[in-house]
Amino acid sequence: MKISLNAQILLGAALGIVAGLGMAAAGKDAAVTQNGLYVAGLAGGVFVDLLKMILVPLVFTSIAAGVANLRMHRQMHRVWTLTLGFFVLSMAIAIVLGMSAANLFAPGKGLSLDLFRDAMQGFQAKRMGLAEFAVSFFHGLFVNPFAALAQGNVLAIVVFALFVGVALVMGGERYRNVLALLQEGLELTLLIVGWVMRLAPFGIMALLAKLAATQNVLLLASLGKFVAVVLGTTLLHGAVVLPLILFAVTGVGPLKFWRGAREALITAFATSSSSATIPVTLRCMQQHLHVSPGIAGFVVPLGATVNMDGTALYEAAAALFIANLAGIDLDLAQQLIVFFVAMLAAIGAPGIPSAGMVTMVMVLQSVGLPAEAIAILLPIDRLLDTVRTAVNVEGDMVGSLVVQRLVNGPRSALENI
Ligand code: ASP
Repeated sequence: MKISLNAQILLGAALGIVAGLGMAAAGKDAAVTQNGLYVAGLAGGVFVDLLKMILVPLVFTSIAAGVANLRMHRQMHRVWTLTLGFFVLSMAIAIVLGMSAANLFAPGKGLSLDLFRDAMQGFQAKRMGLAEFAVSFFHGLFVNPFAALAQGNVLAIVVFALFVGVALVMGGERYRNVLALLQEGLELTLLIVGWVMRLAPFGIMALLAKLAATQNVLLLASLGKFVAVVLGTTLLHGAVVLPLILFAVTGVGPLKFWRGAREALITAFATSSSSATIPVTLRCMQQHLHVSPGIAGFVVPLGATVNMDGTALYEAAAALFIANLAGIDLDLAQQLIVFFVAMLAAIGAPGIPSAGMVTMVMVLQSVGLPAEAIAILLPIDRLLDTVRTAVNVEGDMVGSLVVQRLVNGPRSALENI
């Protein structure tokens, strides 16, 4: 019998917690605990290293190839501007929702995890004011790409990848080999991410064993609150905010939208992958919701990699949750960093299951939180990924309808584009 990766991850998490509690019961001086902690530290560390290793090529190829896949045609400029504008705006609303809820309900507050103590050292040094942050943020945007790639400077890589993507669009046919190379590079990277995810059950088991052996059990109660906060705000965004935007701009009501979009939304929920859902999303857009192939063909595939409301909301809320767990109050400047980096992380995450977990590392690191903290998030990630992927895809569909309405005016001239 073949056990799905989801089930394996849950099993790994459960075994890890049991082993960790066992070690805690045996006492920290027992040989079994010391050996167990050594192995768990080694295995968990390697797993986190693998995630960090793949982050750089993944972000570069995903963004460069995603942007380059735009095709030039009439009104392209308007479609492109409106689409990107919609993506950024809807993700910004989602992040504000997630961060507000995380600040309001403060899941994880009051707990301080010993695991983070080492990683937390030097955190003070990273604190800076808003003005200082602005200077260093803009200064860090444009960097020699080879240095950025070598140093794992993700923000600079994202910016350079955008330049490459736009240049490929402008260059058109002339650079088709470079584009093909990038696309194959992305596929290859995703293949490797798949392998890394196969190790996830073991990595999670190791990280959680170490965690459970050294932490208190109140963590689970805190996770319950965090899950409720994330699911609640994600559903609010998907069931209220996006339908409201849709209705305000296009006049399409929520029921009509749901009837036209449900195949894609359910597929996204079941597969946890925006990319795998693309064929179904396109079908719904063109056949049920009457969006022209030109607009749907542009907005949907681009949105599947770039526009992720659910992921953006999650990454921001999760960073605040981890900060609470680590007993750190993020000030306004740091919350702003989380806002921007969560958006970049959502843009950088490809539309595959748990991709947000890979780019989550960069959100945590942006404010000096330990990357190892994703061990806490991974066991519940598969559950949250279902809903956030559905909302990610919903955002692409609402975006297509909104862009079509704004480009074509009140009476959709379907074949204009
Ligand atoms: N699974 C999500 C998607 O495909 C990405 C993520 O992990 O947040 O849209």
